[in-house]
Amino acid sequence: MSLLRFKMVEAAINHRAVEVKAPASSPTEYFGTKVFGKEAMRRYLNKTIYEQLLDTMQRGTPLTPDIADNVAAGMRQWAMDNGADHYTHWFQPLTGGTAEKHDAFAEPDGCGGVLDQFSGKVLIQQEPDASSFPNGGIRNTFEARGYSAWDPTSPAFIVGSTLCIPTVFIAYTGEALDYKTPLLRSIAAVDKAATEVCHYFDKDVNRVIQYLGWEQEYFLVDESLWAVRPDLMLTGRTLMGHESAKNQQLEDHYFGAIPARVIAFMADLEYECLKLGIPVKTRHNEVAPNQFELAPVYEECNLANDHNQLLMTIMDKIARRHNFRVLLHEKPFKGINGSGKHNNWSLGTDTGVNLLSPGKTASENLQFITFLVNVISAVYKHNGLLKAAIMSATNSHRLGANEAPPVIISTFLGTQVSAVLDKLEASQSDSAIRFNAKNVFKMSGISHIPTLLLDNTDRNRTSAFAFTGNRFEFRAVGSSDNCAEAMIVLNTAVADELTQFRSRVDAKIEAGMRKEKAIYEVLKAMIHESRPIRFDGNGYSEEWREEATRRGLDCETSAPLVFDRYLDPSSVEMFARMGVLSKVELEARTEVKWETYTKKIQIEGRVLGDLTMNHIVPIASRYEALLLDKVYKISQIGKGLDATSDIDLIKRIQRHTEDIQRLTTEMIEARKVANKIEDQREKALAYHDTVATYFDPIRKHIDRLEEIVDDQMWPLPKYRELLFLR
Ligand code: ADP
Ligand code: MG
Repeated sequence: MSLLRFKMVEAAINHRAVEVKAPASSPTEYFGTKVFGKEAMRRYLNKTIYEQLLDTMQRGTPLTPDIADNVAAGMRQWAMDNGADHYTHWFQPLTGGTAEKHDAFAEPDGCGGVLDQFSGKVLIQQEPDASSFPNGGIRNTFEARGYSAWDPTSPAFIVGSTLCIPTVFIAYTGEALDYKTPLLRSIAAVDKAATEVCHYFDKDVNRVIQYLGWEQEYFLVDESLWAVRPDLMLTGRTLMGHESAKNQQLEDHYFGAIPARVIAFMADLEYECLKLGIPVKTRHNEVAPNQFELAPVYEECNLANDHNQLLMTIMDKIARRHNFRVLLHEKPFKGINGSGKHNNWSLGTDTGVNLLSPGKTASENLQFITFLVNVISAVYKHNGLLKAAIMSATNSHRLGANEAPPVIISTFLGTQVSAVLDKLEASQSDSAIRFNAKNVFKMSGISHIPTLLLDNTDRNRTSAFAFTGNRFEFRAVGSSDNCAEAMIVLNTAVADELTQFRSRVDAKIEAGMRKEKAIYEVLKAMIHESRPIRFDGNGYSEEWREEATRRGLDCETSAPLVFDRYLDPSSVEMFARMGVLSKVELEARTEVKWETYTKKIQIEGRVLGDLTMNHIVPIASRYEALLLDKVYKISQIGKGLDATSDIDLIKRIQRHTEDIQRLTTEMIEARKVANKIEDQREKALAYHDTVATYFDPIRKHIDRLEEIVDDQMWPLPKYRELLFLR
C-alpha cells in the first residue's frame, strides 16, 4: 500500500472509541433542556404572555408587538442563563441544509459600554443579506431582499452558544424561498380539508394534525481515510472503487452487534438529540457494512422536519468528535445498499383518533376507509409529481437500483386491506363493512379480519409508498433530502383530493342521497379509478416496469425530466387551488432543481477528471514502467525466460489507461458544450444525457486497474478499508 494510504489506515486502526461521559441524570431530567419549550416559557414569561403565546402556537392568533417584546425578553434571558451569547434566525433554504447568521446579544450602547439587545422586532423578523441563496430568479440581485420570519409553532433552541430561532424565508415580494413556508401552507391545507371530511363522522373534530416519523439512514467512515478520498470529501460518494470481496452478501451487518466506536458516537448523538428535544428512540445497523439508522418517535410534521434538519447538522459535528465522517449521500458506495429516509406519515384528529388506523365502530371504519382511499387516490393522480419531490442527482443513484424503492411510485396495501377495498368496490350496498360484538372487523362474504391482524400488515420492502397498518411509509425519500419536499407534495395532493371528495359527496347528499350511501358511492368510484397505483408484487422486477407502463404510471428515470412534473398543468392547478405554491414559485423551484442538478454533476465530473489524471493514470503508468523494465531485462537475459504474461498485463494496463484518458477528454469536451447552454433545464438535460453518461465507463476501467495494479502503489483507500475499518 502507498505510504500515504498506509499512514491513514494506521491512523484509522488507532482510532479507539471515544469515551462519552454518561450523563449522570436520566433522560427525563435532560430531555428538552436546550429548548425554549412550554416549561421554559412558563418560567421565563408571565402568565398572560405565556397564554397568549400558546394561543399563537396552537391557533395561529397574531402576536402583537408588545407580546413579541415580552417573549423576546424572556427568551433572551432563558438563552443567556443557558450559556448563549448569540442568536440566529435558523432557516431552510433551497440549497438543502440549514442556514444561520449569528448576531451577538450584546450591542454597543453608544456610551462606551454594551447592552444586551434582543427585541420582539428581531425575534419576529429579520432581513438577512441572503442574495446568494438560490431563488430561481425570484429575486434579482438588485432587489436582493429576503425576509426571515419567526415560526412560533417550532420552539427556539440552543446549539453551542447560539440561540436558534426557526424561521420561514421569503422574498420581499412574498414568495417562498425555503422549504418551511410551503410546508406550513400544506399543513394548513390538509387540516382544513381533512377536518371538513371528519365532520361527516364526528362534529367534535376541530383540527387534523399530520404526523411524521422519519427513519434516517447513514454511513460512517473513518475520518483519516475520508480525508484521502477526494471524491468522498467533495461529492459525498465514491466515484471509483472496486467492490470489496466481502460486502453485504453474508447479511451479517443488519441488526448485528454495533461496533464499540459506533456505539460511543451514537450515545453521544442521542444525548445531544434528547437535550434538543428530538425524541430519538431506535438505533441499529443497517444492511450494508458501516451503514446505520436512527429514528425518533413521530411528531407533528413541521416540528419533526425541523428536528430532522437539526439532526443532520449535529450528526456531522458529533461524528468528528469520534474521528468519523457521516455520509448522508444516497449512494456512497457501489455494489452495496444506499441510504434513504423513510417518511412515516399519518393524520390524526385533535380528539385523538388516528384517521389511518382501523377503528372500533362501523362509523370509525368508514372514516378510516375514507381517508385511506383518498390518500391512495391522491398518490395515483400525482405519482409523477411525488417522484419529482424525491428526485435529485444523488437520490437517482438509489432509486431503482434493485435495493431501494423503484423509480415508479406505487402503493402497497397488504392482502387484507386490498381485500377490503376489492370487496367494497364490488359490493352493491353500503353495509359491507360491519363489526361484530367482539370488535372484530368483519365483512360480509370475507372471513374475519381481526383489528390485531390489520395492525400487522405484511411488509413489502420494494414498495415506494406502503401502508403499514396505521400510517403510510414513503420509502423513496433520499437520506440527504429535506423531508419537507415530499411532505409538501403529499399533503397538498391529499388536501386537494379530500376537498374534491367532499364536494362530490355533498352533491349527492344535496340530491337526496343518504350520507353513508353517498360516501360509499364516491369511494367505490375512487377505488376503481385509482386501481392502477396498487401493486403488491415485486417492485424491482422487469415485469413490473412493463406492467406499470401499461397502467400509465410515470416511469421516467431522467432526473431533469422528472422535475418537469412540477410544472404540469395538473400540478400547477392543484398547488394554486390549495394555496401552497404559486406558478411563479413552482417555476423558481424547478429552476433551482435543474441548477442544483447541473452543479452536482459538474462537480462530480471535475473530481473524476482530476482523480483519473492526477491519481490513477500516473500510478498505472508507474506500475507499467516497472513491468516494462522487467520485460526488457528478460529479453536481454533470454535463456528461455518468458515474458508473455507480463506483456499481456502491460497491454491491459495500456488499454485501460488509454480508454480512461480518451473518455476523460471526451467528458471534458461534453462539459464545455453543456456549460454554454443558458437555459437551466436544457443545461441539466445536457449534463444528464451527455456528461454523466461518462462516469460509469470511466469508473469501470479504473476499477479494473485497481484489480491489477500493485496494491503497494494504489493511492486511494480501498472499499475494504473504508467499509470494514471501524
Ligand atoms: P419500522 O418497522 O419501519 O422500522 P418503527 O416502529 O421503527 O418501524 O417506526 C418507524 C417510524 O414510524 C418511527 O418514527 C415511528 O414513531 C413512526 N410511526 C409510528 N406510528 C406512526 C404514525 N401513526 N404516524 C406517523 N409515524 C408513525
Ligand atoms: Mg420503516
